[in-house]
Amino acid sequence: MVGAEVDMVRIRIHGRGGQGIKTAGRMLGSAMFLEGFEVQDAPRYGAERRGAPIVAFIRADSNPINERGLIADPDLVVVVDDTLMGEPTAGVLQGLGRHSVLLIAGGTDAAVWRTRVNPAGPVIVVPAGHDGGPETLPRSGLASIGAAARLIGTIGRASLEEAVRAEATAAGVTLSPADLHGVLAAYDAMADRQGCVGGGERHGRVARPDWIDLRADDVDHAAPAVHRPATSVLVRTGLWRTMRPVIDRDRCRRCVWVCGEFCPDNAIVVDAEGFPSVDYDHCKGCLICVAQCPTHAIRAVPEHDAATAEAAS
Ligand code: SF4
Ligand code: SF4
Repeated sequence: MVGAEVDMVRIRIHGRGGQGIKTAGRMLGSAMFLEGFEVQDAPRYGAERRGAPIVAFIRADSNPINERGLIADPDLVVVVDDTLMGEPTAGVLQGLGRHSVLLIAGGTDAAVWRTRVNPAGPVIVVPAGHDGGPETLPRSGLASIGAAARLIGTIGRASLEEAVRAEATAAGVTLSPADLHGVLAAYDAMADRQGCVGGGERHGRVARPDWIDLRADDVDHAAPAVHRPATSVLVRTGLWRTMRPVIDRDRCRRCVWVCGEFCPDNAIVVDAEGFPSVDYDHCKGCLICVAQCPTHAIRAVPEHDAATAEAAS
């Protein structure tokens, strides 16, 4: 099955803390990976406590996966613990459309679930076996993984078995022959539904955008005028100014550390007599110096008036 071309498959696995949902997600994701697909696999815990609803998200695609985040538009929803079906906060039914397959582990018939929750897409039930004890993976999870793998249709039996063994070992849990048998039996039992995931028509899905090329101008045209280090002195930011600070030397006490310190553009320099002098080529006219001067020695003058006065002098 390696190399089979598929569109992205989006899967959510719902269960409860302590039911091995994270491991189940890894098993399914690894099986897809072994078949040559790009895979994303991410669990979300919410409240980290045993019994709290948790969900694992898996995306698989023949192409690189650029989509991120929660899966709101699933192709397959796997419910490992069917008591979650009655818990709205678990979000099991969120985003289910005609294309979405709902796979539920448990003993309740699919027709009953169809009556209770009325999903738009198919409902499939996989019987859940009895768990083997606290050191084992829950059989409902293992059966769900086996069934889900067959419903997806691109996972071979060998890849499934290899992924289940590897992820169980990585998780440090015991995988008994009965556990493995449960996975593969569920896989085999879904033969007549093989590949039903992803076969339905999607609706309400945002189309994947195409990449567009943005023209890149030459840096001399596209960037601000400062495109080399140590050239800010060449940029006459004073051209932005509408009001200019004018210093009254009679009021000035030459405490240049005040106005000079507050000027954000370092546009106040000290002349030979120790008085402040404004560098109008670089003063932007923010008038912070006007506000800070303790003797009110700096006036704010409209730029037009100052320019007129300069021209007349
Ligand atoms: S803060 Fe005012 S008084 Fe002090 S140096 Fe500047 S302009 Fe002169
Ligand atoms: S107006 Fe602003 S930029 Fe100009 S000298 Fe005063 S503090 Fe500096």
